[in-house]
Amino acid sequence: MGEIVVVGGGVAGMTAAICLAEVGRRVTVLEKTDRIGGNLCAWKRDGCLIDNCLHWLCGTRRGTSLRSLWERIGMLDDSTKLRKTPYFYRSIGYGGEIALYRDLERTEREMLLISPEDRKETARLIGAISALRAGGSVLSRAAALARYAPLSLGALARRFRHPLLRAMLTDYIGSEFSSLGLLFAYAAYLDGNADLPSGGSLEAARRIEWRLLSLGGKIEKGSRVTRLLIDHGRVHTLLCANGRAYPAETVIFASDPHVTFGKLLPMELAPRALRKGDFGRGYPTVSSIHAAFSVDAADLPFTSTVCIDGRAGCHAARARGRMAVRAFDHEPDFAPDGKTVIQVMLFVDGEESDAWIALAERDKGAYAREKKRFARDVTAALVSAFPKFKGSLALLDVWTPASYVRYTDAYRGDYMGYVLEGARLPLRLPTKIKGLENAYLASGWQSMPSGLPSAARSGERTAERVLLEAKAGHPERELRKSRVGY
Ligand SMILES: Cc1cc2nc3c(=O)[nH]c(=O)nc-3n(C[C@H](O)[C@H](O)[C@H](O)COP(=O)(O)OP(=O)(O)OC[C@H]3O[C@@H](n4cnc5c(N)ncnc54)[C@H](O)[C@@H]3O)c2cc1C
Repeated sequence: MGEIVVVGGGVAGMTAAICLAEVGRRVTVLEKTDRIGGNLCAWKRDGCLIDNCLHWLCGTRRGTSLRSLWERIGMLDDSTKLRKTPYFYRSIGYGGEIALYRDLERTEREMLLISPEDRKETARLIGAISALRAGGSVLSRAAALARYAPLSLGALARRFRHPLLRAMLTDYIGSEFSSLGLLFAYAAYLDGNADLPSGGSLEAARRIEWRLLSLGGKIEKGSRVTRLLIDHGRVHTLLCANGRAYPAETVIFASDPHVTFGKLLPMELAPRALRKGDFGRGYPTVSSIHAAFSVDAADLPFTSTVCIDGRAGCHAARARGRMAVRAFDHEPDFAPDGKTVIQVMLFVDGEESDAWIALAERDKGAYAREKKRFARDVTAALVSAFPKFKGSLALLDVWTPASYVRYTDAYRGDYMGYVLEGARLPLRLPTKIKGLENAYLASGWQSMPSGLPSAARSGERTAERVLLEAKAGHPERELRKSRVGY
């Protein structure tokens, strides 16, 4: 059997590669950067570790199919400790605060206390979250999907009258993202199925890399695929920017779909749903701007993730006015003794992403100055919300949508891919690229509700499809229908 080449060493590509290497297939992953993991990454600054990704990992409960997949690819192993955070996240503002607790009844009680006039919407929302939990009936689950699939978080928030409840709903990941993303993730959290692996993104990515290598798979870092040689409907060679050429019997594209279609393959070959969205015009995206600080551990006024008003002079937050602040006190190895890391994240829409990306391309100096200004404004907002931080915050790094473009080539810096407003996209995209005999897709973009589970599941599904076609020619059906959600 010939070589299977995977473009992109993110979680989707690595999962596909591992599932194929497990059954003895020859697999090579071509990754443009010098690390494996894609968005699942972390980096060092001034003796501290900055963790880009893992806020929570859905599928951590033993006995679930997702947990088995995590163990299969090395995302989790027997020795990985899981941290149970006290709440999913906490939202502060408008004179009050509310958290998404581990106890759904408590969340409902507090929502009602804050806003009795939102009783009806609160009851619906809580009912839908219950339905999406393990053991929810098929009917109530279907009703929740039908009701919330067409709603973005912004549209859901607008159904509530109280500004704090509105803020809480969009604090999850901004306004554009599908409301199902929040409902699924919170339901998994309530089920004890969305905890935080210790060691964070760095250790998880290392375990995944090790798993593929131990199965005999090959990884070529610093190998950005720039051109394909296609003949008789088959991609037979991949050419990289470093001058290397890789012959392939089968190719799995696990790069951002915007790279796959438009840069590597013609847009006409993209699944119809993506073409309709046309990537640029009217296609909602989510990216974010971040700042990381080291702080005296004794000064930390909160744990886990809290979301606060970021409007206090925060230039880059003008679109949203909210920022998520995440503490890493549970990871003592991420900072020197007596210190801990906090990270701030502000979600931005496509327009604001474009502004950062254009600035970074046009004028490096102005981009650097804008990042500094952002850091100053965030510092002011943090000190205003938590006066204990005064004099204790030391800036480690700032990164923006332009950083995501530079690192993963993500379209408009968007890393969740499956932004769905008004159900523009179907719940699943196909794994096979129409018009090419030996080309497949695997990506977090391919199914709802996106994030790491969707990336891994799509990699697994694509590997199954490749194996099935190798065995039986060209089957008419997908191997197995995996359910939507976690
Ligand atoms: C700030 C942040 C927080 C997040 N938090 C969470 C969370 O808590 N839980 C969760 O489930 N998800 C989270 N996510 C989302 C999650 O990280 C992504 O959904 C997931 O990593 C997507 O995986 P992927 O493999 O589809 O894509 P990617 O991670 O983008 O991987 C694509 C890979 O392809 C490579 N590539 C691109 N072009 C080429 C080319 N031409 N040649 C070779 N290689 C190429 C890229 O370098 C990259 O490594 C978060 C993301 C971010 C950015």
